[in-house]
Amino acid sequence: MFSAPVEYDGQLRHTVSSLNQNRNVMIDLLKEYPASVLFSNYNAVAHTHQSGLHDLYSCPYPRMNPSTDIGLGRSFRQYRTDLTWDRAVACCVPDTDCADCRHYASGSAIVTARMFRHAADPDTFHSWLDYVDTYLAVWVMGYEKGGNLCRHLVAPPGQELF
Ligand code: SF4
Repeated sequence: MFSAPVEYDGQLRHTVSSLNQNRNVMIDLLKEYPASVLFSNYNAVAHTHQSGLHDLYSCPYPRMNPSTDIGLGRSFRQYRTDLTWDRAVACCVPDTDCADCRHYASGSAIVTARMFRHAADPDTFHSWLDYVDTYLAVWVMGYEKGGNLCRHLVAPPGQELF
C-alpha cells in the first residue's frame, strides 16, 4: 500500500476510489487463493480505510505519541550520525505523511498494540487475532498462519467500515 510522503500531492496519493478498489482486489485475492495469500479481511480493512492508521488506532511511535510513559513513545529512538534524536521524525518511515500512513510494517506495531480496544465483541477480537496471526506469519521465520477466524468485514473499533 502506498503511503504518501510529507508534502507529496501527486497522482499516487490514494483517493476514496483507489482505496476502495484496492480493498476489493485484496479481498478477491484472499477468497481465490486462501492457501497462498497471507492476509485477512481485517488487514484489508485496516490498510484501505479512508482514515490512515493513526486516525484509526492512535500511532504509538514518538512522532505521533508525545507520551513518556512506558511504551514506544518513551523507548523508540532513532539516533542520527551526530547522536542527536528528533521526536518529530521518530518512526520507521520518518518522511511519511502520518494522515496517509497505511504501511504494513507500521500496522504491525500500531494495530497489534491495540488488543484491549478490540476485545469488545467476538467478531472484532477475532479480526484482531487474524491481523496478529498474519503479522507473525509475514515477519517471523517458521511461523505458520492458521485459518482466519472472521470471514466477513469488521470495522475498526469506534469507526465506520470504510
Ligand atoms: S508515519 Fe505512520 S508509523 Fe510513522 S508516526 Fe506517522 S502514523 Fe506512525
